Amino acid sequence: MRPTLLRRLCVLISTLCLAAPVVAQDQVLNLYSARHYQTDETLYENFTKSTGIRINRVDADDAGILARLKSEGAASPADVILLVDAARLWRAEVTGLFQHVRSPILEQRIPANLRGKDAGEGSAWFGFSTRARVVVYDKSRIPRGDVDTYEKLALPVNKGRLCTRSGSHPYNLSLFSAMLEHLGPVSTETWLKGLVTNMARAPKGGDTDQIKAVASGECGVALTNSYYLARLMRSQAPADRDVVERVAVVFPNQADHGTHVNVAGGAMARHAQHKEAALRFLEYLSSADAQGYFANGNNEWPVVAGTRVANPALDALGRFKADPVAVGVIGMNQVKVQQILDRVGYR
Ligand code: FE
Repeated sequence: MRPTLLRRLCVLISTLCLAAPVVAQDQVLNLYSARHYQTDETLYENFTKSTGIRINRVDADDAGILARLKSEGAASPADVILLVDAARLWRAEVTGLFQHVRSPILEQRIPANLRGKDAGEGSAWFGFSTRARVVVYDKSRIPRGDVDTYEKLALPVNKGRLCTRSGSHPYNLSLFSAMLEHLGPVSTETWLKGLVTNMARAPKGGDTDQIKAVASGECGVALTNSYYLARLMRSQAPADRDVVERVAVVFPNQADHGTHVNVAGGAMARHAQHKEAALRFLEYLSSADAQGYFANGNNEWPVVAGTRVANPALDALGRFKADPVAVGVIGMNQVKVQQILDRVGYR
């Protein structure tokens, strides 16, 4: 072979090598997840299929994951963390459990208000889906006008009607923290005291249990995340159809600050060992495929504009005005809210 031809071949080969997809150095990803939704399994499988990266998953709730990360410290094997509450994402960011990630893909796809603060070094977390905290009520006996704001749930007319899960559950803590921002401390305490007074029963169970208790007549009105209701709306089971028939939904506070919306999101762990895999996974969660799973699988609203949603329950719920309170404010208010809950006996 002539030397020039050999040189050309070498150049061609090295160009081909450089242009070829980089074989992932990181074939494993350690995921700590607070997402407790069965439909997510397909999401993870699709990621492994398209990248060859195997996911080792640890499931726990938000508080359990944060406690585990703290106790593991620098020895933590976690690469990516998925949480289902804005305040917990914020808390993990400010306590340094995440690392900042610079990704043009994520920055382009995810709105700035659904990301951790970016002071030039990237964001510490990214929101991938949203959910609203809505009111569900017994339409056979309760006028909609009695329950169309969060504040009204504390009125005397609703005495003996209200059901909720625990007041200190993150979904409620975040709603109450947004309300603290709107009402101030004195009115928030009065309001939460009113909720306790109006309970049909002591707080217990999850959000779906509250919806079912409204349908059974045990409660007149309840708070729930929108996707639990949407899941029942899409169910073919006769018992679920019966529940949906009996209840009506309202997006509270449409005439003023809007309905409380929470964020589920993810982050790269501070001590991630598989950074390349972690970044690819986070970016995958913003892909059309993954965003479609959040919307059509778990009935959440996708965060990436233009995501195709083929979900009759989300269509039926329709559009609404969301409360624009910042995630950081919701996070910072939580300690105060917990103190109020202790004072008013909201367990
Ligand atoms: Fe949930």
